[in-house]
Amino acid sequence: MGIKTTYWTVSADQPEPEIIQRAAEIIINGGLVAFPTETVYGLGADGTNPQAVRRIFAAKGRPSDNPLILHVACKDEVLGLATEVNAQARQLMQLFWPGPLTLVLPKKPCVPEEVTAGLDTVAIRMPRHPVALALIAASGVPIAAPSANLSGYPSPTTGRHVYEDLAGRIEAVLDSGETGVGLESTVLDLSGPIPVILRPGGVTREELTAVLGTVIVDQGLSDPRQKPKAPGMKYVHYSPRAEVVLIHGPREQNALKIRELVTAYADKGKKIGLLLTRETWRHLPDLKGQVAYAQDLGSCARLEEIAHLLYRELRNCDEARADVVFTETYPEEGIGAALMNRLLKAAGYKVIDS
Ligand code: AMP
Ligand code: MG
Repeated sequence: MGIKTTYWTVSADQPEPEIIQRAAEIIINGGLVAFPTETVYGLGADGTNPQAVRRIFAAKGRPSDNPLILHVACKDEVLGLATEVNAQARQLMQLFWPGPLTLVLPKKPCVPEEVTAGLDTVAIRMPRHPVALALIAASGVPIAAPSANLSGYPSPTTGRHVYEDLAGRIEAVLDSGETGVGLESTVLDLSGPIPVILRPGGVTREELTAVLGTVIVDQGLSDPRQKPKAPGMKYVHYSPRAEVVLIHGPREQNALKIRELVTAYADKGKKIGLLLTRETWRHLPDLKGQVAYAQDLGSCARLEEIAHLLYRELRNCDEARADVVFTETYPEEGIGAALMNRLLKAAGYKVIDS
């Protein structure tokens, strides 16, 4: 596509005001700017400008029934966007904002229907990244932003990922290196009587339960036959071009199964990617040199680190032209719930018991 995409490298801690100002001018004029957050890179537009918001959907190839999150630079901005900010919402904002928690609240009429895909609720979050906060503040409007990837592909955790997906489709990229969490925010619906997790993410269910007492997880997330309540969760997502297969079992047994699968797939001439825990690699050191791409994701005792690496490593498997990626399951505790949600979707729910 025809747009010239400006690429700015910007300091993550002390974003250069001149660059932020120029990026904010693009937003104010209805353009698209990709920017880092603590979760993944976002693709931002003026959230009060329906035409600008429509351009996000076009650039990503995103289905128009999948609503966007509005990003704010201070907590009070929520009052201008939601009709009701109840005690639970206030408490969560106090404890987790800025941070990877998105709140779904009843919307005010001023929020364009392009943002909410026609729903009567709006999703809002205050990110914890100096570049994101500076850009929103300088723009003076809430910034509507989904992840800055082509729809369906793994979310970007570096500026280069954004550029690979969206160069020629957006006005600018602000690159300040790798994002922290590496998975998207938790989406929590507070518009009904009981809080519901619509998408697991950077703030865990355990953390939310400790504050709220009762929190339900949307059934549609774990059961592919049920329709999820967050419109976006029903789509194929987070998947590289390579087929992803999840291996489930004790690590030692996983190693035996993977050895078997590698032999079978290699015999068929398939190029293989292996994204495995350190514990599993311990049994397979010889395989590292025999496959198209091999990566140690670190210990299964450190799920945060695995979450941080996942999207980058799925993209690396594609870069190495792998046909198939074998990777493993994790306990659905803490950040493990978000990690497994993304892995199951990337794998199209394909799980092999070891
Ligand atoms: P992304 O922009 O890729 O991080 O996706 C945002 C997620 O939040 C998607 O799964 C959306 O469907 C979900 N979402 C956004 N707004 C709402 C809303 N008003 N109600 C329910 N889910 C929402
Ligand atoms: Mg996304």
